[in-house]
Amino acid sequence: MLSDPLLQKLTTDQNIMPTKLAIIGAGSVGATIAYACLIRGVAKSIVLYDTNPAKVTAEALDLNHGLQFVPMATLDGSADVEICRDADVVVVTAGAKQKPGQSRTDLAAANTAICKDLVPRILNVAPNATFLLVTNPVDVITHVTLKISGLPRPRVFGSGTVLDSSRFRFLIAKRLKVAVQNVHAHIAGEHGDSEIPLWSSAHVASVPLHAWAVPGHGKLTVRDRTEIFQNVKTAAQQIIEGKGATNYAIGLATVRILEALLHDESRVLPVSSLLTNYQEIDDVCLSVPCIVNRAGVEPPLPIPLNPAELAGLRNSAETIKVTLRAVGF
Ligand code: NAD
Repeated sequence: MLSDPLLQKLTTDQNIMPTKLAIIGAGSVGATIAYACLIRGVAKSIVLYDTNPAKVTAEALDLNHGLQFVPMATLDGSADVEICRDADVVVVTAGAKQKPGQSRTDLAAANTAICKDLVPRILNVAPNATFLLVTNPVDVITHVTLKISGLPRPRVFGSGTVLDSSRFRFLIAKRLKVAVQNVHAHIAGEHGDSEIPLWSSAHVASVPLHAWAVPGHGKLTVRDRTEIFQNVKTAAQQIIEGKGATNYAIGLATVRILEALLHDESRVLPVSSLLTNYQEIDDVCLSVPCIVNRAGVEPPLPIPLNPAELAGLRNSAETIKVTLRAVGF
């Protein structure tokens, strides 16, 4: 809901859904999501909330100084959760991040504790919000948020393997010398070490990857596939070792999810959502391609899986459950 009358009039005139987006955590990821949201005109009102007042004030100031160059919007930042009042969508990036050599699951206890404190406070001011979780380990944090919020399943989901899938597509596109937009391939399961590549359904412009052998564009050998998937799995560590955080690609991936949600696109995305009796996987959040629209996340699609992929997906679900149990869920 927008309080600014000018913005209200503009959104009504242009038939744009008036949307307030709250981003929790103004660190590398939260600030970059805000920046990408502004550039792409995703929401008319964006607020940043962070417990570090100096950081959130500085990020909001810097972003405000660019407002002249982006689609009409307002942006505010505060260390008071009140700034999130009446938000339609809440993106959570608050919490500890991986240090070099740390895995995402090493963050589980600290970020679950943050989530348990944060989610009720946000719900108190924004009871109608849909939650999009980015904080790692994202499948665990999505599950914890769903359980402690009591919100319906469609309104709580995580960025999941949208980022991993875009890394996957980029590497396939590079090897085959085709545009990344023509590559359709998903990473499913955990956003983490047990994730799996869905090679059997991957295709380039409807040519299945296993049948792809195009002069001048090569084909993928078993070794290529192994290298590509290994590269997807280690990409975050490589970036963290070089610059301390990953931010640009997750910023853009999150904006793509927000566009699907706020623009009611019904776009298929491998987000992390609660699976119930899906391929014998139950009561765990992980990524399988799902339709995302204004109502939130729909149940997972019946994607084709070969026996190895199915076993990999079930193994990934068990891996996430081990971490969930360790943090008391
Ligand atoms: P960062 O340290 O730069 O920022 C985290 C921010 O959260 C800090 O500014 C901190 O003050 C704030 N914060 C901590 N506790 C808070 C609370 N209770 N309320 C409000 N704000 C709070 O970290 P980052 O690089 O921005 O990463 C943030 C998270 O995103 C990490 O968990 C990281 O692993 C995760 N991440 C996820 C993906 C993904 O694909 N899901 C990709 C990249 C990073």
